[in-house]
Amino acid sequence: LTRLYGPLTALSNVRVDVMSALVSFDRVFEVLDLRPGIEEKPDATPIPSGSGRVEFRDVHFRYPSAGEVSLATLEDVAALDRTRNAPVLRGVDFTVEPGQMVALVGPSGAGKSTTSMLVSRVYDVTDGAVLVGGVDVRDATLDSLRDTIGVVTQDSHLFHETIAENLRYARPDATEADMWEALRGAQVADLVEALPDGLDTVVGDRGYRFSGGEKQRIAIARLLLKHPSIVILDEATAHLDSESEAAVQRALSKALEGRTALVIAHRLSTVRDADQILVLDEGRIVERGRHTELVAAGGLYAELYRTQFAVADSPAPPYAQDAEP
Ligand code: ATP
Repeated sequence: LTRLYGPLTALSNVRVDVMSALVSFDRVFEVLDLRPGIEEKPDATPIPSGSGRVEFRDVHFRYPSAGEVSLATLEDVAALDRTRNAPVLRGVDFTVEPGQMVALVGPSGAGKSTTSMLVSRVYDVTDGAVLVGGVDVRDATLDSLRDTIGVVTQDSHLFHETIAENLRYARPDATEADMWEALRGAQVADLVEALPDGLDTVVGDRGYRFSGGEKQRIAIARLLLKHPSIVILDEATAHLDSESEAAVQRALSKALEGRTALVIAHRLSTVRDADQILVLDEGRIVERGRHTELVAAGGLYAELYRTQFAVADSPAPPYAQDAEP
């Protein structure tokens, strides 16, 4: 248990660090995880700005065991108990070319989130290498890694602070005009404009409560302000009402324009549009290709398509439409 106290005491000191890192890593605990094991080398090189290529070279990964890192979260302890350090990725090899959109799909536990976390070096690979812009992420400066990559997860976190402050974590020197532009791009400007305090509205449980879809759009506004060349996106599985869903989709297509994207896909439209779909199963890529090829191949993807994607995007039943004004 004493192992837990160190990181918890350190929490107060790393607040500022955590806040700015959140824009990349989005969840406090993932950032705390990052600190104990992940260090910048003295001779680290910056990733060239605007780099869009991501490469996985025969990546093997198992989560560190209790003896290898100081555990940052109770979540970690539970996860370690659960898995007993089993290999999670077993020879994952792929390239995302600059500007491409690659969709990761696969059954629960296949290793999709783990793969996405290795790009921003939340953990180091056990074997093989992950390269961003041609630089092994273990040799890259942490700042350049953070500047290059933006992450939007399903549970994007907003702090109990004003909207402007929440946005400034993405870009501290953002002007009000920059913020409004980002909010417009993220399809949430009208809403913020209608609030009595506008950008100075305090958000959170004791302030203005955004809905799930609105929170996601604020997270997308942060991404637009930050301008990363690579976006890691975990598409929401949570049900949003259809209007909010459509707004999030419009915001996302704006955010992904011209960028490299690695998407943990839950939507049919995403897999249809993807330049490449990687089908993960038990830590290996078992199929890869475009939607129509993979459906025709009749393998695991075809099955996932039938059971997950086709169902997820089926039209709402007629009575739901009738209920709308
Ligand atoms: P889902 O679709 O359910 O989110 P996924 O394909 O994203 O699944 P991962 O979350 O990458 O799968 O998990 C892959 C494996 O790694 C699972 O067996 C999971 O239990 C394990 N795992 C995930 N996080 C940790 C952790 N922090 N420590 C130890 N094992 C973990």
